[in-house]
Amino acid sequence: MEHYLDSVFDHVRTLNPGEDVFHQAVHEVLDSLGPVLERHPEYREARIVERLIEPERQVIFRVPWVDDAGEVQVNRGYRIEFNSALGPYKGGLRFHPSVNISIIKFLGFEQIFKNALTRQGIGGGKGGSNFDPRGKSDAEVMRFCQSFMTELYRHIGEYTDVPAGDIGVGGREIGYLFGQYKRLTNRYEAGVLTGKGLGWGGSLVRTEATGYGTVLFAESMMATRGEAFDGQRVAVSGAGNVAIYAIEKAQQLGATVVSFSDSSGYVVDEDGVDVDLLRQVKEIERGRVSDYVDRKPSAELVTDGSVWDVPCTVALPCATQNELDEAAAKTLIDNGVKVIAEGANMPCTPAAVELFQEAECLFGPGKAANAGGVATSALEMEQNASREQWPFERTEDKLTLIMKNIHDECAETAEEYGDPGNYVLGANIAGFRRVANAMLDQGII
Ligand code: NDP
Repeated sequence: MEHYLDSVFDHVRTLNPGEDVFHQAVHEVLDSLGPVLERHPEYREARIVERLIEPERQVIFRVPWVDDAGEVQVNRGYRIEFNSALGPYKGGLRFHPSVNISIIKFLGFEQIFKNALTRQGIGGGKGGSNFDPRGKSDAEVMRFCQSFMTELYRHIGEYTDVPAGDIGVGGREIGYLFGQYKRLTNRYEAGVLTGKGLGWGGSLVRTEATGYGTVLFAESMMATRGEAFDGQRVAVSGAGNVAIYAIEKAQQLGATVVSFSDSSGYVVDEDGVDVDLLRQVKEIERGRVSDYVDRKPSAELVTDGSVWDVPCTVALPCATQNELDEAAAKTLIDNGVKVIAEGANMPCTPAAVELFQEAECLFGPGKAANAGGVATSALEMEQNASREQWPFERTEDKLTLIMKNIHDECAETAEEYGDPGNYVLGANIAGFRRVANAMLDQGII
């Protein structure tokens, strides 16, 4: 089986040269699949793995727009519709200067298994652009979003493909994208995008869902060892949507969160992060983490080293891919970390994950631990379809149950395959099985 999976991986590398993070994401999944393919020869006969690694459709397009100085700017847009065995393609849009085909494919590939774990009937996709919203005026962001949607609209729809936010795409961007979709199609198709404003089709808890869900997943892992968040010292990276609400939930559960970061450095706040101040600085003023430090005497800004130098018992990486490497993992372990849950997508490098597993830390991979965001997006679609808006508590209860079910399925699957506590194996096999069975039923397409 190893030989077969190696040859599939070689094929992925040959066919997609230079796409390093996509290769990394595929390798991480293939690495878990040997035992499930041994038990299910029908998956191999139907070439499920070979079909899964090939996106169903890839769209790349030009996005021209005019900046405030009247200059013409050109960006590149992407939408990768990876797999629709379980439902319409579903996954966010990322606007960041680093975006390229490899990043969007890695995110889309991960999304297939994450969405399968939620059991909500959603396929996997992802999109975005190398546009950088930082430092742009609202009018520039609006013109960019309108141009982006002028191509994207023909590929999406509530039964086809349902984008949402990711890095650089929040409520403001979703609003401009939805407005242009509505204008082009002459349809108020609320279920075509998620992460909408609360006054026009958005779901309560969607903003909080990814960060809250990550902490809930970590809480379930900790419960297997009779531990809880109360009294833990937590380090968080990032200062965006996922980080802010991971901090809020960890503190609600009694932990002290002592760090957060952005690309300009990291902040240590030994008194515990003031999440209202952080939200004010990042969400309302769109400022930098240094603006928080200017207003909080107990906080210190560090611009060299790594946020993972901060000693903690729980680490929640919530910024971006490959932000926590082997050296950072070693420092965390030496400093006593016991639990790591990935709020971001693939923030830990493979070598870091291996070290955490060797040290018998509880490690929750992103495709399980951060699935609360997309799960609540699917709840938003459900509310749009029934023209309802559920109260906060009802929606949060559903999120809590979904995260508990994801945790339990990963744990049970890891046990079934002889490696209890290995959430990477459990998540990959449980997600893969659900997609593979649907693909078998639907024939060779
Ligand atoms: P945001 O844009 O809201 O925030 C991203 C944060 O991470 C910012 O503080 C940003 O700092 C920081 N960051 C980004 N790149 C780097 C970098 N190279 N080095 C250091 N810091 C960096 O994005 P989200 O919070 O939505 O997303 C964060 C992660 O969570 C991503 O991996 C995303 O894919 C994942 N995710 C998000 C979901 C969601 O619902 N939003 C759902 C599931 C996963 P700066 O502003 O300086 O760039």
